[in-house]
Amino acid sequence: MTEVIVIGGGPAGATAAFTLARQGLPVRLVDPLGIGGQLINVEHVPDYPGFPSGVAGWDLAASLGEAVLGAGVQLTLGRVTGLRAPAHGATAWVVDIDGARRTADAVLLATGTKPTPLPGGEGLDGHGVSYCAACDGGLFHGKDVIVVGGGDIAMAEACSLAPLVHRVTVAVPGPGPDAAKAWLDAARSHTNVELLHGAIDLVVEQDDGRVSGVSYRDGDGVRRTIPAGGVFGGLPGQPLVEPAAAFAVTGDDGGLVADPSLRLGGLPGLFVAGDVRAGSARRAVSAAGDGATAAMAIAAYLL
Ligand SMILES: Cc1cc2nc3c(=O)[nH]c(=O)nc-3n(C[C@H](O)[C@H](O)[C@H](O)COP(=O)(O)OP(=O)(O)OC[C@H]3O[C@@H](n4cnc5c(N)ncnc54)[C@H](O)[C@@H]3O)c2cc1C
Repeated sequence: MTEVIVIGGGPAGATAAFTLARQGLPVRLVDPLGIGGQLINVEHVPDYPGFPSGVAGWDLAASLGEAVLGAGVQLTLGRVTGLRAPAHGATAWVVDIDGARRTADAVLLATGTKPTPLPGGEGLDGHGVSYCAACDGGLFHGKDVIVVGGGDIAMAEACSLAPLVHRVTVAVPGPGPDAAKAWLDAARSHTNVELLHGAIDLVVEQDDGRVSGVSYRDGDGVRRTIPAGGVFGGLPGQPLVEPAAAFAVTGDDGGLVADPSLRLGGLPGLFVAGDVRAGSARRAVSAAGDGATAAMAIAAYLL
């Protein structure tokens, strides 16, 4: 046997990696950012089981890292740039990691999602557009900012920004919001957070290469503008299917379609877990659960 390669070190990949290592399998986890995935930039996770007062995302990421390395998983800081199915009659997958080639008897894709770009926001990263309140919120001290989105991520971003900025407008595209009640209550508990419903065809506006606000169409079809010093993307992310795109089918949400044991594409030895999977609940705990399910399926396949 060569090894199992887990692509992605978020809660899905990390849980899979240490579950596989505990089965006695040689495991390599590959991620350019180390271990933690999206959690590295999340200030407060209120709904991960076992933490009645919630837990900071970066603390949860650090605990996952400790568990992974403690179980004997090999960590490679790098990006998977290519994946080739076993040649006829062979069992080994070929995985390219930043130009270096490795082989694996099984591969787990746990690459998560990337932020959905804001219309009109192209080229404005670092000039008023951000996709991470915990990373960049401090740059907008005392300013008015806008968060685009109506789900849990948008509300979490608004809650992170509220103590730092003057005013947060959460621009909800469509009829929403569709965030959990607890997240909506948390956002509304800040006196400087305001929800704007039905912001259709929203576009980031700029003035001389710097964000000046957003414009949108209201329910009467009238185009309106809200001035702001910063705009944060809080829409649901886009699944990062790239390394396996050639082998798999994508679902309505853009994720990879798997069978109940999280096997991909009917090919031997290729599995998927977490937010990149079609139909994922897109939670840290569902990603971790997927990781455990995929690990047990991989162990059953190999042992
Ligand atoms: C602002 C915010 C707040 C959130 N709040 C909560 C919350 O309160 N509760 C909750 O349950 N969830 C929350 N989430 C969602 C949660 O973080 C995700 O559901 C979870 O992290 C998904 O885990 P994952 O392992 O599937 O993917 P991710 O966490 O996205 O990890 C995927 C990893 O794969 C790596 N990767 C991607 N492509 C490659 C490649 N080609 N090669 C190598 N590595 C690659 C990435 O670098 C990344 O580290 C929040 C998310 C955000 C953004």
